[in-house]
Amino acid sequence: MKTYETDVLVIGGGGAATASTIAAHDAGARTMLAVKGRFGVPGVRGAGATSNPKADFWTIRTVGPKGGWFNPPDETWQDMCQIGLGTADAKLCRIFVDEVSDAIKRLRGMGMRFQSKMLATMPATKESLGTNNIVQIQKAVIEGTGTEVLEHANVTDLVVDGGRCLGAVGVTDFGEPFFVRAGAVVLATGGVGQLFQYSFNPPGNTGDGYAMALRAGADLFNMEFMQQGIATTWPTQAMVMLYEMPEPYRMFNRHGKHFIEDYLPAGLTLQEVSNLKAWHWPVSCRDAAIHLDRAIHGEAVAGRGTDHDAIFLDLSGARRGFQPEVFEEYMASVGIDLGRDLLQIQVHHHTSNGGVRIDEHAHSKVVGLFACGETAGWQGADRLGGTMLGGSQVFGWRAGTKAAEVARDRPQRDLTPDELDRFLMGDVRRAQESRGQTRPGDLLAPLQRDMWRNLLVERDAEQLAAARACIERQRAALAGDLRIAEPFDLALYYEQRNLLDVAEVIVAAAEMRTESRGSHYRSDYPERNDAEWMTNIFVSRDEKGLALRKQWVNAEVGFEDIGKIRILPWG
Ligand SMILES: Cc1cc2nc3c(=O)[nH]c(=O)nc-3n(C[C@H](O)[C@H](O)[C@H](O)COP(=O)(O)OP(=O)(O)OC[C@H]3O[C@@H](n4cnc5c(N)ncnc54)[C@H](O)[C@@H]3O)c2cc1C
Repeated sequence: MKTYETDVLVIGGGGAATASTIAAHDAGARTMLAVKGRFGVPGVRGAGATSNPKADFWTIRTVGPKGGWFNPPDETWQDMCQIGLGTADAKLCRIFVDEVSDAIKRLRGMGMRFQSKMLATMPATKESLGTNNIVQIQKAVIEGTGTEVLEHANVTDLVVDGGRCLGAVGVTDFGEPFFVRAGAVVLATGGVGQLFQYSFNPPGNTGDGYAMALRAGADLFNMEFMQQGIATTWPTQAMVMLYEMPEPYRMFNRHGKHFIEDYLPAGLTLQEVSNLKAWHWPVSCRDAAIHLDRAIHGEAVAGRGTDHDAIFLDLSGARRGFQPEVFEEYMASVGIDLGRDLLQIQVHHHTSNGGVRIDEHAHSKVVGLFACGETAGWQGADRLGGTMLGGSQVFGWRAGTKAAEVARDRPQRDLTPDELDRFLMGDVRRAQESRGQTRPGDLLAPLQRDMWRNLLVERDAEQLAAARACIERQRAALAGDLRIAEPFDLALYYEQRNLLDVAEVIVAAAEMRTESRGSHYRSDYPERNDAEWMTNIFVSRDEKGLALRKQWVNAEVGFEDIGKIRILPWG
């Protein structure tokens, strides 16, 4: 088996991975970056959410000077905590607020050009390399660091002995196993967008980091919270921000019927719900705008959407969101004239707000195992826009710096035959010897459909049970009816296994949280219940399976006027 050796192994090829690789190098470590598919090539396997070419513009949230009028630090920190409805990690939010300006400065120093000094926005034009800008710019820096880049490298598990991470194993796209012996490992594998039929996230973002961390003994938390929002499903994906509407939204189903009122509780009008939705893009039950998102999703789930699972939205004559001309131009580039054509929209999964529980150095509870970017959990029930890209830089940098230090005095050794079998080869052999009918790739679309129906926008006990049943069916197929027809199927097998593991975590956390909070809306428990649920759900794995516990990360902070927001619109 091919074996590599390094001080710091960074897994992933997005903005968090590139930031932590540079930081680890600058801190004196030998670095290696392992990525699925190609490194930093938008639109192909391996390009993470940071390299997603499908967007009109991107934003990193900026923080202004203390005492100033524009996003002053203390107020921004308050906003982040309040947006999280008590569940965002207040200490990590403080680090974000204190360090995001340095991260932006670092990016500028590497050659990044933002559209506006104050907002750190990036229009996703061809000339600006679209959203791939951050990765391209940091990749150029990495080329000068002597970092060894392993492409087509699907990392499948972390090697852990006595609570210490010793490296990672995986298989290449060509079915070859490998082991990277490392002093420290940084997980920067992005989120789990591929779990859902409608998501912005590219192939490859299959929650591997969450699943591997869990198996390695780390904790996950806040996994029931996901950011979701309205976007077009056809002819391309584009977020649709409905910030200002002079009149109620004009939406109708495939039969031309206006349907939103069918979903509104008694006493709530279409105008009221439209006004509320104008204040935020993310799906959230903190106000009654949730019913608009329920309507859009529910109508398609009921089979009354378009062939692209969408409902029609007429935006002619409406003022639209932030930088409307950018959106207009973007839609024109795919042949949609907003003054004439109807948009086909649906709720999409956007990002995971939870993830691996980390400390202020992005260190998990497994010694030598770090997590950053969307793989790390620090955001809460809802989150502020622009904090994921910025957070990837802030915590990516911290992870790389600390990983270099931890790697320095770490013993490195080879795998024993037993470890080799336990962490990789036992499973590879079982998969390869299986003589069933189901190729792993066959399971993806049915899983995505099921999870989009049952886990996004709203959940109740029945939907969660249906999601569980789907997970169990698919696990049985992987265990008893698997067929590895070509080497790449092995990589897809691991992805599917991880998707199922992460889906189980989300379902379990959503079942446990018998209330509604921010992005987690339980239609059978529609009220927020601070008395019982002003807390986080931690998930770990032991020999019996998943173990969930309530543990509030902000017990010492103390929240007043929970949910009170200064920034409008938010999201
Ligand atoms: C359309 C869109 C618009 C967005 N707009 C904004 C915005 O304006 N502001 C904002 O703050 N956030 C935004 N986000 C969210 C933000 O882009 C992501 O949260 C962030 O880029 C995640 O960065 P990351 O480095 O953690 O992961 P990613 O960029 O997703 O990278 C993950 C990497 O890990 C690799 N990988 C995964 N598993 C493995 C494995 N097992 N082995 C090897 N490699 C692996 C993937 O191939 C990929 O290279 C947006 C997201 C999308 C999709």
